[in-house]
Amino acid sequence: MTQVVFSIGSNLGDRGAHLRAAVAGLAANGVVQAVSGVYETLPWGEADQPAYYNAVALVTGPHDVDEWLRIAQSLEQAEGRERDPRRRFGPRTLDVDLIAAWTDDGTPIERDDPDLTLPHPRAHLRAFVLRPWLEIQPYARLPRHGWVNDLVLSDALADDVAAMRVVSDVELE
Ligand code: ADP
Ligand code: MG
Repeated sequence: MTQVVFSIGSNLGDRGAHLRAAVAGLAANGVVQAVSGVYETLPWGEADQPAYYNAVALVTGPHDVDEWLRIAQSLEQAEGRERDPRRRFGPRTLDVDLIAAWTDDGTPIERDDPDLTLPHPRAHLRAFVLRPWLEIQPYARLPRHGWVNDLVLSDALADDVAAMRVVSDVELE
């Protein structure tokens, strides 16, 4: 058994429907313990693309992290994601990332493999990951970086957090 925090995002097509499909797909592979609200976020990396809907889900299940990555990628493919190698951070119907993972006894799982880096190497910089995560787990710690609450309140993220908008008419559960 592992516990995983997933970040899910979409900025193409019916963004709410893609996020709902991601949560349903995670629920089919484990127990979804909590899902955040949906936040609308300005695009990251390349400004010239539609705004994102982002959310975070806390999931436990009988998979190791490699299996969870395959599940995440199959959910992206099911929503019609096409990867454009020239646009690493380009628009996508669905992005499902592993943010952090723990074993049964609460030990953080750490990996430095480029195919699966844990915790996610950019999670501590991303308001659209940390803010929804804080909502569902106020005492969460991001392994290697500390309290999620402290990261969300840091000066480095203040502008990004302030720019996020809660999308009240989309429910994921
Ligand atoms: P993004 O960084 O915007 O999520 P992609 O979804 O295209 O970009 O992912 C690029 C690669 O990142 C994937 O091929 C995957 O193997 C790798 N990767 C490394 N660590 C992780 C992680 N923690 N979660 C998801 N993908 C990861
Ligand atoms: Mg990804």
